[in-house]
Amino acid sequence: MPAQTHLFLCLSDNYGVLIHDPATGATAAIDAPEAGAVSAALDATGWKLTDILITHHHGDHTAGVPELKARYGCRVTAPAHEKSPIADVDVSVGEGDPVRVGSLNAKVIATPGHTIGHIAYWFPDSEIAFVGDTLFSIGCGRLFESTAETMWNSLLKLRALPDDTLIYCGHEYTLSNIRFALTIEPDNAALKRRAEEANRLRAAGKPTVPSLLGQEKLANPFLRADVPEVAAAVRLAGKPAAQVFGELRHRKDRF
Ligand code: ZN
Ligand code: FE
Repeated sequence: MPAQTHLFLCLSDNYGVLIHDPATGATAAIDAPEAGAVSAALDATGWKLTDILITHHHGDHTAGVPELKARYGCRVTAPAHEKSPIADVDVSVGEGDPVRVGSLNAKVIATPGHTIGHIAYWFPDSEIAFVGDTLFSIGCGRLFESTAETMWNSLLKLRALPDDTLIYCGHEYTLSNIRFALTIEPDNAALKRRAEEANRLRAAGKPTVPSLLGQEKLANPFLRADVPEVAAAVRLAGKPAAQVFGELRHRKDRF
């Protein structure tokens, strides 16, 4: 039976997601921005929380863990190599480790950059990846704890997933990301299509998340640092992709 998901807003612009295995009833929360919003989502779906899968140590992804664990007795899986400790972790995981939610299988992809221990959870059979604050729709996370080269290599790992993969990211930043992306590739047809779609969704009060990896590859400049036109747009034609990526991230930081 295919996995079911439920996306909901937390705090001001964070997304929480539940992934549910109908075969066993197991349900995981991807990150725990706030306990109340996760509990409300569980009440709305009628699903029972068995797992929390944490992508990175930042408070807007972990603050709800202690209260949710106390309330539901769920198992908490979190990255093994973070700089700051995460409360109440049961299982620490890193690159390539398998994670199970009932009968659903996920694989951990180490994606250092935003934080040094950041991980993504890829559910290959469900064609879903939970990427936290590494990759956003038409954007990427800020480089708080690593170099541009490290983050670029993490993005390459995500870019290598199948095009049909649904990307669930940690924040609704899409419109602001699109405004920046259009300064880099104003004539990119896939980006212009995404801009129209995102504007329509946001005007209707709907999320722009999840997005398809295949579309991100065509429209997200941070996945396109090795495209000659993108390098030329930041006056770094012929330079290494990691350097182009670093310049894109630097410009976005000041945008
Ligand atoms: Zn973060
Ligand atoms: Fe965040």
